[in-house]
Amino acid sequence: MSKKRQPPIAVREGILAREVMQRLEEAIPNADVALHHKSPFQLLIATILSAQCTDVRVNQVTPALFKRYSTPEDFASADQDILEAMIRPTGFYKNKAKNIINCAKEIVLRFGGRVPGRMDALVTLPGVGRKTANVVMGNVFGVPSIVVDTHVRRVVRRLKWTQSSDPDQIEVDLSHLLPQEKWTSGSHRLLLHGRHLCVARDPRCLKCPIFDFCPAEAEKNRAHLKDASVGRSPIFLQRFI
Ligand code: SF4
Repeated sequence: MSKKRQPPIAVREGILAREVMQRLEEAIPNADVALHHKSPFQLLIATILSAQCTDVRVNQVTPALFKRYSTPEDFASADQDILEAMIRPTGFYKNKAKNIINCAKEIVLRFGGRVPGRMDALVTLPGVGRKTANVVMGNVFGVPSIVVDTHVRRVVRRLKWTQSSDPDQIEVDLSHLLPQEKWTSGSHRLLLHGRHLCVARDPRCLKCPIFDFCPAEAEKNRAHLKDASVGRSPIFLQRFI
């Protein structure tokens, strides 16, 4: 009997990734960005504030902030001490205040007071790296964008979707695995999955909707002499077991 031909590894990875994303879509139906905003500029500021801080905390700070400073011009001429005091609960407030004021100045001077809708322009703004730029591109400009934060990095490394620890390289690896129309929502679902279940210490594998696609969980089971093949999809078994 002839042996059934298997698709190449890259194709198999893509099939697994799509199945994982489908599960996560069912488990996490709402993948909208959690940072409250009413404009591209507000999302940009909220995202800068969210570095090393929870979205909940940022959402507590931004209503008063955006009431006092409503335009890039307002932020560009803000008093740094007052701004620092207002954003202090988000941590790293001195650096964030400086970046926000300088970022607003650049937007006013170089972009006519409007947040540019291009990655190459966004990353030239003070305090804006690829992660922040991708949040803005994906969520207000509708450009498919992959956000790689610490949660996404942890999850995709456990899933063995990447060998890299470098966010830029992980972004490239994910772009090959996920269909473009899933980049924004998919990376956000991976982020939420990492934040709530696939946490750094003691991931909650027993509650995980994608445990049967997870090599890390399979390895754990193997270590405990359980049958790591139980409940796994055929493609997963060919790939990892
Ligand atoms: S099975 Fe565990 S390690 Fe794997 S993705 Fe789920 S929570 Fe993370």
